Amino acid sequence: KPTRILVCGGGNGAHTMAATAAALKNVEVNVMTLFADEAQRWTDTLGSDSIEIDVTYNDGNTGILKGKPRIITKDPAQGMDGVNAVFFVVPAFAHQQYFDAIVKHIKPNTIIVGMPGQAGFEFQALKCLGDVASKCAILSLESLPWACRILEFARKVQILGFKDVLGVSLIPGHGEYSLPPLQFVQTILGKKPALKLTQNYIAVNLMAKSIIHPPVLYGKWHNWDGKPLAEAPVFYQGVDDEQADMLSKVSDEVVATAQEIGKQRPDLDMSEVIPILEWYRIYYRDQITDSSNLKSCMVTNKAYNGLLHPMEKTDAGFVPNFKYRYTSEDIPFGLVVMKGIAECVNVKTPAIDSVITWAQGKLGKEYIVGSELKGKDVGTTRAPQAYGFKNLEDLCKML
Ligand code: NAD
Repeated sequence: KPTRILVCGGGNGAHTMAATAAALKNVEVNVMTLFADEAQRWTDTLGSDSIEIDVTYNDGNTGILKGKPRIITKDPAQGMDGVNAVFFVVPAFAHQQYFDAIVKHIKPNTIIVGMPGQAGFEFQALKCLGDVASKCAILSLESLPWACRILEFARKVQILGFKDVLGVSLIPGHGEYSLPPLQFVQTILGKKPALKLTQNYIAVNLMAKSIIHPPVLYGKWHNWDGKPLAEAPVFYQGVDDEQADMLSKVSDEVVATAQEIGKQRPDLDMSEVIPILEWYRIYYRDQITDSSNLKSCMVTNKAYNGLLHPMEKTDAGFVPNFKYRYTSEDIPFGLVVMKGIAECVNVKTPAIDSVITWAQGKLGKEYIVGSELKGKDVGTTRAPQAYGFKNLEDLCKML
C-alpha cells in the first residue's frame, strides 16, 4: 500500500515538496492550500500534467524531476483522506488555519512536520490538536530543505541548492509507525539534506534564527530621524557596533535562559544553545573572512552579499518597511516565543524587552507591558503563554 502524505501550502516550498515527494515510488501526495483560490488555480493550470522541477545539485550537476499530486484541494476532508503524515510548508503566520482545518480529520499515528516549524510550532501543535497530539509525532525542521522558487505557478519550480544537514526536533508521542518518524521524513526527502536530531525542542526554539533580524533593525532604526534615504542600506554587512552589541545582549539573555533551564532540570541537555558569536564562527566558518568579533563576522560574511534592509520607495526616497517579515514574523513567531520561555523560568530579559517594545509599536501590537508578557496581543503569538504553558514543568510535559 502506498504511503500518502499531505502537503499544506501553495508557495515555493509547497510546490517543491509536492513534486519531489510525488516523484518517489510508492508515495502519493495530497496538496491542500486554503489561501484564496490557490487550490483551484493550481488544479486548473496543471491539468493532467506533472509539476516539473529544475534541479541544481550541490556538485553543480543539473536535472529534471517530475511529480504529480493526486489532488490539490481546499477541502480538509479530502486533503486528510488516508494520510500518514502532514507537512506544513507555509510561513508560520499561516500555520494556525491549517491546524484548525486538519484537527477534525486527524487520526492517531499521524506524523506532523513543520517545514520549517519556526519558533513555537510545538506549542501551537500540542494545543490545537488536543488529545490526539499525544498519539502523533511532531517534528520541526529548522529550515526548508532547499533554496527553491516557483518559475511558473502550478507547473514549474526550481531547486537552487540542497541544505547539507538540517536540524530537526522531535516530540515522539505515543503513536505506532511502520518507520520511525525521523526515518520516515528522511525517506520522503531523499538523501539530502541529512536530518540531524537535535536535543530537545526547547533548545531548538531558543536557537531559532529569528533572533537576528529584530535587534539589527532596532539598532539601526530606533533613533531614526524619519528622513528618507537615497538608497536601501546594507542589512547584515552594514551592522555597526550598536547593532552588534544589541544582538549580542539578546543572545546572552537567550543563553542565560537555557542555562537556567539546565540548572532547574539537569536531565535536559541545553548545550546546543550557544552565543550568537560562536554560532557564526561554526556555521559560516568558510564564508567569514574576519571572525574576531560579532560585528566582523556579519560584515565580512560572504553568504550575506547583497542583502539590504527591507525598504519602501517613496517619492522622497527610501523608508524602512517595519512590517516586513523580519518584524511581522520574527517578533510574534520568534523573539516573543523566547521571551515567553524566559518568563517560564523567571529570567530577566531587558534587551529582548527593549527590542520587542520598539517593534510592537511599529507593528501596532501589544505583546509586552513593561517587562512582562501580558499585552493584549499575546494570544496571537506563539509564546508558550498563549497556549496556557506557564512554567518549566508545563514545557517539559510533552518531552
Ligand atoms: P512562500 O512565500 O512561497 O509562501 C507563499 C504561500 O503562503 C502562498 O502561496 C500561500 O499558500 C500562503 N499564503 C500567503 N499569504 C497567505 C495568507 N495571507 N493567508 C494564508 N496563506 C497565505 O513561502 P516559501 O518560499 O514556500 O517558504 C515557506 C517557509 O520557508 C517560509 O517561512 C520561508 O521563510 C522559509 N524558507 C524558504 C526558503 C525558500 O527558498 N523558498 C528557504 C528557506 C526558508
